Amino acid sequence: MAVQFEGQRAYKHIEALSVDIGPRVSGTEAEKRAAEYVSRQLGEMGLKPQTLAFDLPNEQASFFKLEVLEPEQGEIPALPLVGTPDTPPEGINGEVVFAEFPQEPYVGPHIEGKIVFLANGGILGGNLTQLLKYKPLGLVLIGRTMSKEPNTFHVIRKETNKPFELVPTLHISYENGVKLWNKHIQRARITLKTERKPGQSYAVFAEVPGRGNPDEIVVIAGHMDSVPCDPGATDNAAGVATVLELARIFAQRGSRRTLRFAAWGSEEGAGGGSLKYVLELKKLHKIQKQAPDYIEGYSKTDLEKHILNINLDVLGMSLGSNECYIQASPALEQYLKALTSEMGIHHVFKKEIYGSDNITFGWVGVPAVSFARAGVGTHYMHTPKDDIELIDPGQLEIIGKMLDVFITRTAAEGIIWPFDRNTGEIFAEREAGMKKSMNSIIKLIGEDTSLID
Ligand SMILES: [Zn+2]
Repeated sequence: MAVQFEGQRAYKHIEALSVDIGPRVSGTEAEKRAAEYVSRQLGEMGLKPQTLAFDLPNEQASFFKLEVLEPEQGEIPALPLVGTPDTPPEGINGEVVFAEFPQEPYVGPHIEGKIVFLANGGILGGNLTQLLKYKPLGLVLIGRTMSKEPNTFHVIRKETNKPFELVPTLHISYENGVKLWNKHIQRARITLKTERKPGQSYAVFAEVPGRGNPDEIVVIAGHMDSVPCDPGATDNAAGVATVLELARIFAQRGSRRTLRFAAWGSEEGAGGGSLKYVLELKKLHKIQKQAPDYIEGYSKTDLEKHILNINLDVLGMSLGSNECYIQASPALEQYLKALTSEMGIHHVFKKEIYGSDNITFGWVGVPAVSFARAGVGTHYMHTPKDDIELIDPGQLEIIGKMLDVFITRTAAEGIIWPFDRNTGEIFAEREAGMKKSMNSIIKLIGEDTSLID
């Protein structure tokens, strides 16, 4: 076992993705270059990469501006919430009202026809329905963390805010939000123009075939796209870099079970890449179950062979803390608690569903575990400042070596796979709610919603 996880090698991948390529918005040429980069790297390891392409319209704001008109005039740095409607070329000009939450009684008839400055994290899970019901003229989302940069999110889906119409929306920083509050601003103007083009997005993966139990598949993956104006170094070039470094070591060592190393496109705002991957499995599942030699409970479809998704999303910050989100049997949580303690690496085990590609796997019944790193750097997530300066190769190596040991002991060398194939209690509670938004994304990427029943 001479080959080891090297933080410096992972760092080089982050450089290639976040500096050389830069922001990798789904459906754009830059995301395609990221997919080609990942595919080339996997190929150089001697693996046979596959790329699934799918249609995903891309939307990018070509012009956006926030101006305060009263009591004094001035422009405030802002970023667009892509997916919200354009304004007329001269902008929309309205009276300003501040709201603390997008829910009643913070919003009500008093916001109609006004520009709402929304504190406390803005979209809070994407649900603006109560706010939109009162027909504001426009919306300015104030950053929820003490960041000097506005937070930006790629796309807001019309479907999640039905039946109300979205309004032109911009993001500003927490700092500027406080300044404007203190100045008692009265009027503002929003100008927003978005270009919508047809685009393609991708899922790239390659496998190390299992030499003992090839019919047990573990997917180790991270998303390669980022939001507009965002180099996405921690979120999530670092996750992809860690996947590539793990692929390199297991391509050399081999594995008892099949390991699939993947990079997903269009996670931000959609979850498209991982969804495309599981939908292909689902199509195959239906065909395989009809084969004459398929026996329920004995035979396995390709989907049923999937026993775990290890999802890596937001990693590599120097100062911070490691987080782990279990969407699997409690035995997996116990195992990882013991392992990380044994290795002297502290992890906070969160009792939540991580908002990333792990959810897609949960939808088709595949357990998942997500690893993330939180800290000061998280404030720069989804901003132009999520750049390579936040990355510490030493931290990549710590998480990488832990994952190496975890994968080695269980998937790559374990005699028996020690975890039940279930997605856990927390996921079960949330599943019905999450399925609704999934259907809209299945339609968006041009697939058939009846694939998932
Ligand atoms: Zn991410």
